[in-house]
Amino acid sequence: MTIDLRADPIALTAALVDIPSVSRDEVAIADEVERALRDQTTGFEVLRHGNVVLARTDRALPTRVILAGHLDTVPIADNVPSRLDRSPAGEQLLYGCGSVDMKSGDAVFLHLAATITDPVHDLTMVFYDGEEIAAEFNGLGAIERELPDWLAADLAILGEPSGGWIEAGCQGTVRVRLRAPGERAHSARAWLGDNAIHRLAAPLQRLCDYQGRQVDIDGCVYRESLSAVRAVGGVAGNVVPDAAELDVNFRFAPDRTVDQAIAHVREVFSGLDLDCEVTDAAPGALPGLTAPAARDLVDSVRGHGAGGVRAKYGWTDVSRFAARGIPAVNFGPGDPNLAHTRDEHVSVRQITAVTAMLRDFLTGTSI
Ligand SMILES: [Zn+2]
Repeated sequence: MTIDLRADPIALTAALVDIPSVSRDEVAIADEVERALRDQTTGFEVLRHGNVVLARTDRALPTRVILAGHLDTVPIADNVPSRLDRSPAGEQLLYGCGSVDMKSGDAVFLHLAATITDPVHDLTMVFYDGEEIAAEFNGLGAIERELPDWLAADLAILGEPSGGWIEAGCQGTVRVRLRAPGERAHSARAWLGDNAIHRLAAPLQRLCDYQGRQVDIDGCVYRESLSAVRAVGGVAGNVVPDAAELDVNFRFAPDRTVDQAIAHVREVFSGLDLDCEVTDAAPGALPGLTAPAARDLVDSVRGHGAGGVRAKYGWTDVSRFAARGIPAVNFGPGDPNLAHTRDEHVSVRQITAVTAMLRDFLTGTSI
């Protein structure tokens, strides 16, 4: 089969869904995408690296935009091939594994690569494998390590499902383990001991009372939270325990560094005589929407009266670009809450809308 990049991106989404591409099994879809980019686009240098397909223009335009999408999906759940259906309200929906996450985004990018003849930005396309599994298999990570010059740009757009909103930046995360000391004793004579589990009452109360900040950066509101995510303690049914642990996860806005976030967590639990060990930390990413290319994208989206801009709470490959100093956003069709479900489906209208918004941005059309 040969996919048709000039076809309607809805038909192209269906064609991509119909090529199964569960993580670690992306050869067939990478072959199709590579062949289509070579045969059906003009002005692109195309490069295959493992199961990553790269393509870029070199028109000496003042700015460069990366359009990146992963080709793999989670395991199929009786939801391939794709099928079109209507919602009870009459809305056209395309069902199938990967329809949301993220073959509709891939289809939009591929369609635009083949049909835009007068871009105002140079384009770099990155279609990569291994996003849905452990980070070591992530094809974008491989490009970062082995072909970093392909990732130079003024703006990166990841076509992950965002319901047609621009989802920018991401929150950071820190995990700490609090350890409470104690003294063992028989629980029938509890006053002879010092109950380590009881000592967790004070930090738990501080967590209950904690008010997370809401921080507005470039119009994106990041909402911080500090949560107990695991509690362990106890020796036996008749023993006052001498040790207890509480794991706490801080999700923080990207105006804090990891070190500042850790200092904040220590401050929250200060004065409690607890051992506090950092077990995991990853920085957030600033939205970077004040960069000119990013501002233009925001204008194109708002010009269509669509969703606009909001913060991304989870960690995505956007952070890889942000870490390189490149403003990066998620922007694609599909409700992210439907990703990875058996019932995965994308609104056909959203595929069309996102295509139109991106076309305006990439061609400099103001509406
Ligand atoms: Zn995805």
